[in-house]
Amino acid sequence: TFIVLEGPDGSGKTTQIGRIETYLRERGADFVSTREPGGVLVAEKIRSVILGVDHAMSGLTECLLYAAARREHLLQKVIPALEAGRIVICDRYVMSSLSYQGYGRELGDAVLDINKRAINVDGFEYWPDMNIYLDVTPEIGLQRIHEKNDGREINRLDLEAEGFHRKVREGYLQLVRDYESQFTTVDASQNEDDVFADIKEVLDTLLFK
Ligand code: C5P
Ligand code: MG
Repeated sequence: TFIVLEGPDGSGKTTQIGRIETYLRERGADFVSTREPGGVLVAEKIRSVILGVDHAMSGLTECLLYAAARREHLLQKVIPALEAGRIVICDRYVMSSLSYQGYGRELGDAVLDINKRAINVDGFEYWPDMNIYLDVTPEIGLQRIHEKNDGREINRLDLEAEGFHRKVREGYLQLVRDYESQFTTVDASQNEDDVFADIKEVLDTLLFK
């Protein structure tokens, strides 16, 4: 089972992935927890290229880099785990590109075309069984980042103009409408425990029923 956590910056994905790991361990589940961009060496290197430069790059370049990182991560880590019957929990996947590059950078359908190629292996497109979307407004999300109360690293993209984050969030909301069956939305403006309680319900339905 392939489960992806999605959401804008400051939605609490990283914190919740930690809680998910603890829960799945308690349940004795056989799982792999990973993140994008990154998760395997070449993809981590691409991540540091994208996040490490201190100037803007073309939105399409960014999209292609994310897609390249995604494919390697999929081939080297996700598919082998799924084929071994393991649960895969991934911090971001295609929907991040559709919202950040498609809506945020306004690249539109090109992002879907590129990503369909990136996740196509031997004619099969690897879409997750579920995207758990942590929904939060840019006001709350950016406030959390600036408070830095979870000690996370701040990078160039976190500091994008608020208008960018607004487009990203609107993008996610549109994607939830367009791909209804692929999403479960969780209100991530709640406190950490309540967000996790909602996520746990989704996990229980998908994995333990
Ligand atoms: O989720 P995480 O904090 O690891 O993402 C790293 C950065 O990359 C974030 O600032 C996020 O806004 C950005 N990002 C992006 N486009 C994507 C995925 C992530 O701009 N497709
Ligand atoms: Mg994060």
